[in-house]
Amino acid sequence: MPTVKYQKGDTVMGRWPGSSLYYQVKVLGFDSKSQLYTVIYKDGTELELKEQDIKSVSGFQTRSRSRSRSRSPGRRRSRSRSPARTTRRSSARTAAAVAATAITESTPSSRRDTRLKDTVEVRLSPMEQTKAAENSSNNKHEKKEENNTASKVIEKSEAKVEAESEKNQGPYNLRRRKADGDAKPAEAKPDQPEKKAKEAAAPSTIPSAPLDFGGKIGAYFWLLFLPAWVLFVILQGNLADPSLINAPPPLPPLDTFWDAQALGFVILWILFQALLYILPVGKLSDGMPLRSGMRLKYRTNGFFAIVVSAIVVAVAVHQGADLTYIHSHFLQLATATFIISVLLSIYLYVRSRYGASEELALGGNSGNVVYDFFKGRELNPRIKNFDLKFFCEMRPGLIGWCLINFAMALAEMKKHNLDAPSYAMILVNLFQLLYVVDGLWNEEAILTTMDLMHDGFGFMLAFGDLVWVPFTYTLQAYYLVLHPNALSLPAVTAIITLKLIGFYIFRKSNSEKNAFRRNPSDPKLSHLKTIPTATGKSLLVSGWWGVVRHPNYLGDLIMALAWSLPCGFSHLLPWYYMIYFIILLVHRDSRDMSDCRRKYGSAWDEYCRTVRYRIIPRVY
Ligand code: NDP
Repeated sequence: MPTVKYQKGDTVMGRWPGSSLYYQVKVLGFDSKSQLYTVIYKDGTELELKEQDIKSVSGFQTRSRSRSRSRSPGRRRSRSRSPARTTRRSSARTAAAVAATAITESTPSSRRDTRLKDTVEVRLSPMEQTKAAENSSNNKHEKKEENNTASKVIEKSEAKVEAESEKNQGPYNLRRRKADGDAKPAEAKPDQPEKKAKEAAAPSTIPSAPLDFGGKIGAYFWLLFLPAWVLFVILQGNLADPSLINAPPPLPPLDTFWDAQALGFVILWILFQALLYILPVGKLSDGMPLRSGMRLKYRTNGFFAIVVSAIVVAVAVHQGADLTYIHSHFLQLATATFIISVLLSIYLYVRSRYGASEELALGGNSGNVVYDFFKGRELNPRIKNFDLKFFCEMRPGLIGWCLINFAMALAEMKKHNLDAPSYAMILVNLFQLLYVVDGLWNEEAILTTMDLMHDGFGFMLAFGDLVWVPFTYTLQAYYLVLHPNALSLPAVTAIITLKLIGFYIFRKSNSEKNAFRRNPSDPKLSHLKTIPTATGKSLLVSGWWGVVRHPNYLGDLIMALAWSLPCGFSHLLPWYYMIYFIILLVHRDSRDMSDCRRKYGSAWDEYCRTVRYRIIPRVY
């Protein structure tokens, strides 16, 4: 068995992507397949590093000690007594000296300036923390003693860093975040193990990502706006003239929202999907490594679930079940699902208060109850092996979306006495069915998405998965029941062509990246150009990912266009998905850009210089 050089929990020095700087990191685990170590930096950034990008802390300390040894014993004595050893300046300087050790040892002096450019671009706060333990070797005299060329250069760059530290909000922001402010004393007093352990266990000390979605105020807004918007579009869809510029329709009496039977159907549907999910059928896939180094297993039998669901629904219809109930009770079904999503979110929030801190997502523990409730605290809440987030993302809402579309087709036939649904309805149904089936067929791919890897499970995802997807993504089919739109055959052909182009781009680009991420040395991908990054992973710069930085979003947007076109241009309502999706993907793209810049440093900048457009070639 190959030996693993660094063990889980080891404190080591990890190279920062795209630079020659080393920071103190903690080893979270080792993946024998990819031969990568998962490490966490002081600011909470997690990376996968190759063994060659990791050095033992002692290696760095030995070098600084060897310098001290060459000094006079008198100097050493005075250092041990010095009251000035913990000044911020000296700690920052020693931090820079650690960087200098790496710089001066690994680079010829002619290249130092370029390397030092990296130094000034990087904020040094995390190293200030790492230096706290080393502060015992600092005093006023040391400033004079370390009067060699390297330290002069470093002091210069350090001064620049200090001067720029507050205004420099550049891409390589390694500054300790507000939320982990408590971590500093724990680091500064390594001789207080109890306090350190307590602080490490307390959820408030988990580093939190910057607040998203408008922060705390934004969370209040979204909590009110999202359900209100669903209600608005459902009520609009029932109007003869559902113009978005008309005043909102009057609220129906409160009792029309509630229908016990609708709640019963929703619960039955969720339980049925849960049953299919836990059946020991289909592959058990590995999730991505967690902060703890562990990988969770996921039952990826989504395709099986949709096939069984389709058979059960077909049998039920054959036996006389009237699915048009879904159209006539759309509001009540949405209300019932909304209640379930709120109860689920409350449960998720409460249980997250009792979970281990390492199980929390970095983005959902701001300490503000409303924000955390909205964003989600726990990363992978599970009841035994039942993964609540994965289940909700992929099953009741997604398969429910197809069920609702199908019910709308039946409702259209009933309402207009048709023998078959209209072309427009057929196109909307088939297009969206293809999208969902494709997602379930490639279910494993969701394990590498932002939702699964980074976002905690709270109201945002619970509501999104259970209410938003099935009750707003079905808006085109819902709209067509009362607002038929006749399509000529050439129009049908043009729309199908557009959909296929979008699907081709979407599938090819997603598959290319998935294949590359799963096996970078796949011979089928050997023709593609790549940029190496310091994390050990490379970035594709040719093929689909060389055209734009998010070719998969481009394909998805083209498909969204093809979903709205069958509804015609008489109202804006069925175009809602297209408009919403542009906003969603542009926002998602900018979130991903910042994440990747954080992960890959200058390699990411090089990628962005090579591939200049984000989603649409030569436009955006
Ligand atoms: P992506 O699948 O685009 O994943 C982004 C990640 O890909 C990055 O974080 C990076 O991760 C990796 N990456 C980026 N550039 C490169 C490159 N050049 N070479 C190799 N790897 C790269 O993001 P999403 O999870 O947002 O989207 C997945 C799909 O889901 C998309 O098709 C999207 O349209 C769709 N989607 C649909 C929604 C809907 O409601 N219908 C909602 C959201 C998404 P790393 O390097 O760590 O691997």
